Order: sequence, then structure tokens, then C-alpha cells
Amino acid sequence: MPRVLHQLKVDLGDRSYPIIIGQGLLGTSDLSSYVAGSQVMIVTNETIAPLYLERAKECFPGKTVDSVVLPDGERYKNWEVLNLIFDALLEKRHTRKTTLVALGGGVVGDMTGFAAACYQRGVPFIQIPTTLLSQVDSSVGGKTGINHPLGKNMIGAFHQPEAVLIDTDSLLTLPPREVSAGIAEVIKYGLIRDVDFLAWLEGNIDGLVDRQPEVLAEAIYRSCVCKAEVVALDEREGGLRAILNLGHTFGHAIETFAGYGNWLHGEAVGTGMIMAADLSEREGMINAEQLETVRALILRAGLPALPPQNMTPEDFLNLMAVDKKNVDGQLRLVLLQAVGNAVVTSKAASGNLDATLTHFCQ
Ligand code: NAD
Ligand code: MG
Repeated sequence: MPRVLHQLKVDLGDRSYPIIIGQGLLGTSDLSSYVAGSQVMIVTNETIAPLYLERAKECFPGKTVDSVVLPDGERYKNWEVLNLIFDALLEKRHTRKTTLVALGGGVVGDMTGFAAACYQRGVPFIQIPTTLLSQVDSSVGGKTGINHPLGKNMIGAFHQPEAVLIDTDSLLTLPPREVSAGIAEVIKYGLIRDVDFLAWLEGNIDGLVDRQPEVLAEAIYRSCVCKAEVVALDEREGGLRAILNLGHTFGHAIETFAGYGNWLHGEAVGTGMIMAADLSEREGMINAEQLETVRALILRAGLPALPPQNMTPEDFLNLMAVDKKNVDGQLRLVLLQAVGNAVVTSKAASGNLDATLTHFCQ
């Protein structure tokens, strides 16, 4: 039985859009009201197509639905593979009135959104995210793009979708590691903005790891509410949106050190959030008990709590020096002023940062 469990709106004036969250929605929901013209191009990848493409097609009754299946993986988030989307659109004679649909995780979502931002100078698109990370993070907020050999997500555009459809059932086929990686971003929302949600997570983290539909839907809903609020206040990352990077400065250093793909992004963010909490404690912003709360929750989510064994404080400092948040060479970090309240600061004492790095690199 299909059930819509939650619905919310991302409030961006005339670019506002709904996020529809529920169980059994793929194949039963009618999304044709979000399609202005008669043509739809579903973009997906070779892993997701056999699982969900036929059901996704059924969401657009009365429309001409074409599809393009990309190779699977972050390494294909590039110009050459992006061009396969344009090839398909032009071969099937899709006009300026077409609507693109992203069916997949964050890689497919970012590429499809960017293709929509570019095709015929911009066409609408719909997000059907199928990983927990894409459901709580990348499908909301309008950041789209591809990687360049010299940097991740370096080519892109802001382009908001017409609607986001989240079916919690699609998570049942996701590898457990990917589920845990998504939970890291869920925990992040509680830590940065919503202490009540954090308390709820402490009571429900096992249900989340076990993928109970109602628990998933509630966690996704509350995460999307948080992301939607932050995006509505700061659509183009002028300031506040940077708090969404809690744990990411340490995390990116870990991802780069380990080599992309060896640590999942969410795994590195999980460890990174513990490190940020540790530094917050050394700065006198949170207490030892609160630090332990953060650590325990991340461990219960099945995430690692320590960086790679051979990583040194120097490795961290070198890799963190290139972070996008830094201004004029000064390291800027997201720390916890309290549990449920994050701040961006360049004021952390370097002695405390060194102590945190030494503590974690053993
Ligand atoms: P992903 O898209 O690579 O998906 C992970 C893996 O799971 C892939 O192999 C995929 O094919 C597979 N998969 C997807 N759904 C599945 C399902 N339902 N069942 C079985 N397998 C499934 O990774 P991701 O974690 O979803 O997204 C990471 C990407 O998102 C990165 O490129 C990152 O830069 C981007 N991102 C973007 C934003 C943003 O604001 N735009 C935010 C965060 C991350
Ligand atoms: Mg992230």
C-alpha cells in the first residue's frame, strides 16, 4: 500500500518546491502535474535501472518517457558522461519544454540537475533520490555539478528542482555501508540545529540502521526540514549554509588521504564530526558528557570513530589548508557552540587543534 507519510515545502519564492516522503511511492505516485510539457527524460545508472526504472516510468502517465542509463560511480561524474545525457536528449528530439528526472543517488542527481541547468539554457527537473544521503542532502538545495580532474564539484550551477519524491522502500536495496554513511548526515542536522531531533535520534538510531519505514520517513523528514530552512535562509551559501559542513573539513582531509572511494563521504564526515566535537570540548564550548553523546551516536550508526591508522596531524593540517571555507589562508571550522547549535569560526586556538589531531592520530 503506498503511503505518503510526510510532505514539506522548500520555500524559495517562485522557485519553491515540495518534498514528498513515503513508502511504496515509486510506481504508484503521479508526478505528471510537475511536468509542464509532454516529454520526460529519466536519467539513472546501470545499478539502479534494473531495480527502479520501470516503476519510475509509471509515475508519468500520459507523457512520452525516454531514459538514459549512465555508468555507475563518482568517477563518471564528468563531462564525457554528462554528454551522454545531452546525446540522448538531442537524439530523441527533446525540446525546451522537456523535464529531466534524476533517478538515483547524489551522483545521478548532481549530473542530471546540471544537465537540466544547461540543456537549451535551462529546463526543469525532478529529483527521485534513492540513497539515504541523496534523500536528506543532495536532492534538496539546488546545488548541481560535475567533477574536474583537478577538483571535486568544481563545475556546476544552482538549479532548483520542481519536486522531490522520496520512497523509503528504495533504501531496502542499498548496501548497509551506504545507509550508515547517510545516517552521518542525518546526525549532522541534529547536531547543528535541532537538539530535539538529536534526542529523538538517540532513541531511534537502531530503527534507522534497521531501515524501519516510519523511522526512516521521520528521520528523512526532519533532516529535509532542517536543510530546507538553512537553504531558504542562504540559498547561495553567503554565510549560514556553511554550518552544513560540520565534520566536513576533517572529513574531506580523511577522504583525500584515503583516496576517493575507500572511505565513503558519510563515513569520513562521521569521524570528522567526532573530531569537531572534540575540538569544541577543548575550546570549552561543550562538555565531556556531550562529546561522549556525539561519539556514541556515531558509533551506534555503524560509522568509524577514528581516522585511517597511518594518518598524521601533518597530513590533516596540509589537507585542511585547501578547504573552500578558508578565507585569506585562515582555517575556518564548524564547531559546536552547544549540542544543537553550530558556528563557523576561525578562532579555535591552534594548540587545541593540535591536541585534537594528536589525540585522534595514534
Ligand atoms: P552515489 O550516487 O554514488 O550512490 C552510491 C551507490 O549506491 C552507487 O553505486 C549507486 O548506484 C548505488 N545506489 C543508489 N541507490 C541505490 C538503491 N536504492 N539500491 C541499491 N544501490 C543504490 O552516492 P551518494 O552518496 O548518493 O551521493 C554522493 C554524491 O553526492 C557525490 O558526488 C557528492 O558530491 C554529491 N553530493 C551533492 C550534494 C549537493 O548539495 N548537491 C550534497 C552532498 C553530496
Ligand atoms: Mg556532506
